[in-house]
Amino acid sequence: MEVSEVKVGYDIHKTLSEVFGYHQFRGGQEKIINNVLEKNNTLVIMPTGAGKSLCYQLPAIVMEGTALIISPLIALMKNQVDFLNAYGINARVLNSTLSKSESNRVKRESLEGKVKMLYIAPESLAKEDNIDFFKKLNPSFVAVDEAHCISEWGHDFRPEYRRIKEIIKGIGDLHLIALTATATPKVESDIIKNLQMEDATIFKSSFNRENLFYEIRPKKGAKKQLIKFVRERQGQSGIVYCWSRKKVEEIAEFLKVNGVKARPYHAGMESKDRVQNQDDFLNENVDVIVATIAFGMGIDKPDIRFVVHYDAPKSLESYYQETGRGGRDGLEGHCLMFYSYNDVMKLEKFNKDKAVSEKENARILLEEVIQFSESSVCRRKTLLHYFGEHFEKDCGFCDNCKYPKEEFEETEAVVSIIRAVEQTDERFGIQHLINLLKGNANSYVVSYGHDKLDTFGACAEFEEELVGAMIRQVLIYGLLEKDIETVGLIKVSDAGRAYLKNPYELSFSKNREFPDSDEEVEDIPVLSGKGHDKVLFDLLKKERKDQADKLDLPPYVIFQDPQFEEMATVYPTTFDELVLINGIGQGKARKFGQPFLDLIKKYIEDNDIITPGDVLVKSSGANSKNKIFIISQIDKMADLEEICEMKGWTMETLITEIENICLSGTKLNLDYYLEDFIDEDKEDEIFDYFMNSESDSVEDALDELGDDHYSEEEVRLIRVKFLSEVAN
Ligand code: ADP
Ligand code: MG
Ligand code: ZN
Repeated sequence: MEVSEVKVGYDIHKTLSEVFGYHQFRGGQEKIINNVLEKNNTLVIMPTGAGKSLCYQLPAIVMEGTALIISPLIALMKNQVDFLNAYGINARVLNSTLSKSESNRVKRESLEGKVKMLYIAPESLAKEDNIDFFKKLNPSFVAVDEAHCISEWGHDFRPEYRRIKEIIKGIGDLHLIALTATATPKVESDIIKNLQMEDATIFKSSFNRENLFYEIRPKKGAKKQLIKFVRERQGQSGIVYCWSRKKVEEIAEFLKVNGVKARPYHAGMESKDRVQNQDDFLNENVDVIVATIAFGMGIDKPDIRFVVHYDAPKSLESYYQETGRGGRDGLEGHCLMFYSYNDVMKLEKFNKDKAVSEKENARILLEEVIQFSESSVCRRKTLLHYFGEHFEKDCGFCDNCKYPKEEFEETEAVVSIIRAVEQTDERFGIQHLINLLKGNANSYVVSYGHDKLDTFGACAEFEEELVGAMIRQVLIYGLLEKDIETVGLIKVSDAGRAYLKNPYELSFSKNREFPDSDEEVEDIPVLSGKGHDKVLFDLLKKERKDQADKLDLPPYVIFQDPQFEEMATVYPTTFDELVLINGIGQGKARKFGQPFLDLIKKYIEDNDIITPGDVLVKSSGANSKNKIFIISQIDKMADLEEICEMKGWTMETLITEIENICLSGTKLNLDYYLEDFIDEDKEDEIFDYFMNSESDSVEDALDELGDDHYSEEEVRLIRVKFLSEVAN
């Protein structure tokens, strides 16, 4: 077919409005479509939601024959095909979900020329009996959607994507259109190389999402911060991303308990529950979906107002993709990430079973996340730079722009940094450059003779971390650049060489300070009751009943179910281990622990159980600084009102803190305060109530005792007394 003939032959505007019902093309669509119709190889890099699908669907419709559409996810394919069928276009899937007869029918219809688009997964593409069929079919062209899957530098690498070109070559001389929303220069070059489309016309649009506000907060007291953040956005749609299924369940439950309409979503759920939760979210029966990253691919809900990364993302691509699901309607989307260095290090541990090169890649991607998070440079600038885009001004719409850190001007240091790269022949990564500029004569630096260079120690006056931050900022200024082929190596750009001839002042800022996270403490597995040893759990409960009868105490006073769940998970056999269980202090362990420890010991022996090696860190419950303060004030017999005043707390806050302290096992003697606060008879009645009740719920107590006679404060404080005296 002649090129000119094709171009003249189609009225793509007519198809756009008649088939799709759109009045005009968006962004680069028209040019892209023409390029495909002219049978040129095409690479499209546009953000999610930009309308990439149309770029192959429309040509597929107007061209003769069937186009092959390669797409990674069966669920996504089905969506697209349903959508196209609804528009009256004959599109089909060919994948492993079809029965033999179904797939035969699809093939027959295709060969009869009835099918315009055939969606296939790369696995199916490679199948022997399909190859013959494709040859007979002689497709009009091939579209490779989500083409970043080719690259291990993208966010969902698919090894099968690597074989696409080889297989297509076997089918015939077909031209390609590859599409992706991942635009780092490295991924781009991988796609081009892998699909052998060096001649492709590249269409790349800006990745700036103006309406997204980026914010990163230290991951401290993250749950509290989260609930506050969500409550301030009551009734709005949002997504909270977590790493693990367990965390997803936990946070969803936590939000629910706190009155938020939230649901979990992860791959471990029953598929009907998952679909239900997703639908409820789309239909707005639910405001917040708490999800692993499995959620969101192909989801098109335009009014998602916030996206929270409760755990750090594993790469900046993932971060961009996931945050990109916010604000599709052009209104504000708030993107909040909770960051702690320790957290990211945990992610690194997840990679420990991967192959060496893959592990190294994952580490470099994580390094970028750390730098991005800790940096005080405009988030948008950094993010877009990462995607190979130069963004001139600070954006004014991110946390770093809103709350800028003090800046300082530098010229000499910039010159030294660029010269250091030059003098070392552009063959080193950032850490080596830091050592060199800082004047660290480590064996590596010495072995290259870099301690002899005049840039050795040129930035010695700056803290090591700041030297790193400055190098990264010089990269963002575009005076240095990262090598695409050999990841991690830094080179001097043309602008950098020009700068050396004619240096000028540049402004820099220090990194943000992220205090060492206390997330470890908050992060102890809050046992959901799913992972524990049920048999042991029941034995412990039985033992509790026996002990309670013996001591004439209500069972819950001894230990509570969540503590048994935890015991039935970590199998403590010594006092030291027992006090590590949430809610068990020294006092309680000594008073009640022994029979339970004996039981667990025997159980372990009888059943040959290997206990988890890691001992859990104890949760302090209350912020430990406050905890010490409160305990010392109560020791001094300070009035509670006084303590509130000193801290600017309400009585409610203080009592909650006191309860946490008490529940985590510390005895508190409030008698001096209670004497004046409540009359003795009432005190006795409340105390007796707890002695005889089934649970320590304050609500139940108020119901039972009558809330017209007893205030909540009274009940709560006497409960503290009761727990301190009897249970701790
Ligand atoms: P991408 O694959 O780039 O993430 P899609 O192809 O899924 O994006 O398109 C996103 C949305 O934009 C879809 O709802 C699609 O119907 C719509 N869309 C695409 N092109 C146009 C257009 N020219 N006019 C109006 N809406 C469009
Ligand atoms: Mg798409
Ligand atoms: Zn900014």
